[in-house]
Amino acid sequence: MPMKKESKDLRYLAKGYLAEIQTLAQSPFTIMEVCGTHTVAIAKNALRELLPTSIRLISGPGCPVCVTDSSDIDRYLYLAAQPNVITATFGDMIRVPGTEKNLQVLRAEGADVRIVYSTQDALELARQNPDKEVAFLGIGFETTTPTVAVSLETAKQEGIANYSVLSMHKVVPPVLRLLAEDEELVVDAFLDPGHVCAIIGTEPIEFMAKDYGLPGVVTGFSALDILEAIVMLLRQRAEGRSKIEIQYKRVARAEGNPHAKRVVERVFEPVDASWRGIGMIRQSGLGIREEYGAWDATRKFALPVFRSAETPGCRCGDVLKGRIYPTQCPMFGKRCTPMKPVGPCMVSSEGSCAAYHRYVQRS
Ligand code: SF4
Repeated sequence: MPMKKESKDLRYLAKGYLAEIQTLAQSPFTIMEVCGTHTVAIAKNALRELLPTSIRLISGPGCPVCVTDSSDIDRYLYLAAQPNVITATFGDMIRVPGTEKNLQVLRAEGADVRIVYSTQDALELARQNPDKEVAFLGIGFETTTPTVAVSLETAKQEGIANYSVLSMHKVVPPVLRLLAEDEELVVDAFLDPGHVCAIIGTEPIEFMAKDYGLPGVVTGFSALDILEAIVMLLRQRAEGRSKIEIQYKRVARAEGNPHAKRVVERVFEPVDASWRGIGMIRQSGLGIREEYGAWDATRKFALPVFRSAETPGCRCGDVLKGRIYPTQCPMFGKRCTPMKPVGPCMVSSEGSCAAYHRYVQRS
């Protein structure tokens, strides 16, 4: 059967990008992909194998489940174990191990844990169960916070008093600054997260290029997007430039999404947050503003503060900071597999360890 014109065009484009990469990558160049979805796309499309050896792609802290601190996991497990509470969560969280248990174990023990696909589902659960408290586990970066903010505004407007959110949300720019200042990290450039920048725009990450001379390209999620972004980064190096550019122009704009930014600003405020394996980063989390305190699960249930505890032997922290490849963790593929994950980087579908286990086995 003759090859379709569209797939011929795509092959032609990919060949062109790879040829230009080959020409421009005459000396070593290390690129960190910040976003977990990029990590999966790179692994799934075997892009590392296609690139010249001078190009090194390393994964960063862009999987929201993976960077959720153990103290936050223990906090939501405590909440889920309370009587009369329905815990609404995205499916990725269900097997993430806390210090002693996970949501799956709690559910087997009788806790009411429901997997939802949107905050609208969680709100609907609250409407349908007026005699119960519905607590939504808010985990994610700037991509997910607008819909969570809208759910809180809706709950307030409609007077849905039995809905609340446990906010463990994080924002990307502060962790980028931390990476830029990490003397042990050797990175020349960044593939910046397309969906996050579709919300916040490029202004909040311009400092990476201006202050630290680290170029970045806001990138989409197909193999071609990633190859084109690598070409754009290599062109910057060849021309001695350091800028934040946008490859993902079909979705992301320099100014971001003003409507989404406004709704987040109305509901959330910056707070210090602890990142798994990385530690406390100032103003890198989002707390719920006082005006929405009645829908803040932390206030509503007076949740205790738990201690951060790393899983012994798990090197998620080093993986998230780009210091090692997942395959360099001694437990990778042995004690730690997607069926029996030891750390969160192996649990989440966007986790580097899970992506490597599924698609790659080399470092
Ligand atoms: Fe942690 Fe498992 Fe990844 Fe090792 S392979 S860093 S134990 S999640």
